[in-house]
Amino acid sequence: HLADTEPATIFDKIVSKEIPANVIYEDDEALAFRDISPQAPVHFLVIPKKRNGLTRLSKATPEHKALLGHLLYVAQLVAMKENLGEGFRVCINDGPNGCQSVYHLHLHVMGGRQLTWPPG
Ligand code: 5GP
Repeated sequence: HLADTEPATIFDKIVSKEIPANVIYEDDEALAFRDISPQAPVHFLVIPKKRNGLTRLSKATPEHKALLGHLLYVAQLVAMKENLGEGFRVCINDGPNGCQSVYHLHLHVMGGRQLTWPPG
């Protein structure tokens, strides 16, 4: 798997607790933690603990479908724990045009204020 030989990212160190993060949810497959540079009053990331080839969403294969569904499920679960019942946004940045900076798949979940649309 070519993707598995790609360099590890800062998120691997967060999963392994080598560097601290404000973790708000964890299960066998997924981790959610607050973004270090929040763009909304509530802004957290949901990541697969094992990158498993998912450097970016566009690397998904049929084998990833269950994991992708789980991450989306966790996004709303944690959003509800964070009192985002008035609404929130889930976003995935893919690649250079998507402004992706960390090549370990992650869902951004943002809320706690009126968001605007379209994004920049
Ligand atoms: P991207 O642009 O790749 O979709 O977003 C990466 C996100 O990870 C950014 O919002 C950035 O603030 C966040 N981030 C980068 N490094 C760290 C870190 O060490 N800890 C935490 N909690 N968030 C990080």
